[in-house]
Amino acid sequence: MARIDARDVFRMVNILDGIVTVVAATHVLPLEATLGAVVASQAALAAACLCPRCSFVGPTITRATTAERQVALTFDDGPNETLSPRILDILAQYRAKASFFCIGTQARRRPELVRRLAMAGHTIENHSWSHSARFALLGPQKLAREIDDTQNLLADLCGRLPAYFRAPAGFRNPWLAPLLAERALHYAAWSRRGFDTLDAVPARVLRRVLRHIQPGAILLLHDGRNACDRQGHPVIETVLPTLLQEIEARGLRAVDLPTLLAAGGSVERLSMRSRA
Ligand SMILES: [Zn+2]
Repeated sequence: MARIDARDVFRMVNILDGIVTVVAATHVLPLEATLGAVVASQAALAAACLCPRCSFVGPTITRATTAERQVALTFDDGPNETLSPRILDILAQYRAKASFFCIGTQARRRPELVRRLAMAGHTIENHSWSHSARFALLGPQKLAREIDDTQNLLADLCGRLPAYFRAPAGFRNPWLAPLLAERALHYAAWSRRGFDTLDAVPARVLRRVLRHIQPGAILLLHDGRNACDRQGHPVIETVLPTLLQEIEARGLRAVDLPTLLAAGGSVERLSMRSRA
């Protein structure tokens, strides 16, 4: 099957816009129709960038196809001085493993905590340096710094280069995929997420994560900021033990992302591969 480069798609949209503009200049089409076509093509590209599990802007791992009864647990936005140790204790209690997608600036503030996560047998992955709300608007140079500064720090702290990257809130642009490919980094999205940063009701968070859960699923929760109930307890503290019990009850095992993907015969990428 022909492979489509994300950058080609980006160029194609811009070439189409150029053609439409020339057509407008020659008055073949009314101005309103021309402007409408330009707006529609740019809106389609913007929608693709803002779709976290979408493959339009690059190869995207959303789950693994595996014969093993495993699911991957992933935690974003840490390390956090309160939540990360608490999550570590709960994972140890249930003999579960997870992947922590750390923010570079957070890791720099709490290097001992990053080392502790790695020493406990969990994997540390890259969630950008600054977790900027403008991440999807950054150009190639700034994106490269966001990736590389975090790779370098986490490798120094853990002795292992992260193999997976996840963008802040999952929002990307077409420049990211080639940069990741050059660095042998894979883009990891998720199958299910709990919205535990927004929803403080444990039953609802749990229902979202467990809905149609299958072997090979990648679950997304957070060890950074978390929604708190009326007593001030982060929702993940209530959700995680129940989630791990439910995973066990369904005959599944919680593992880190590299373990899940290594066990999988093939990785399901809802994607178009980049040639870079
Ligand atoms: Zn995040």
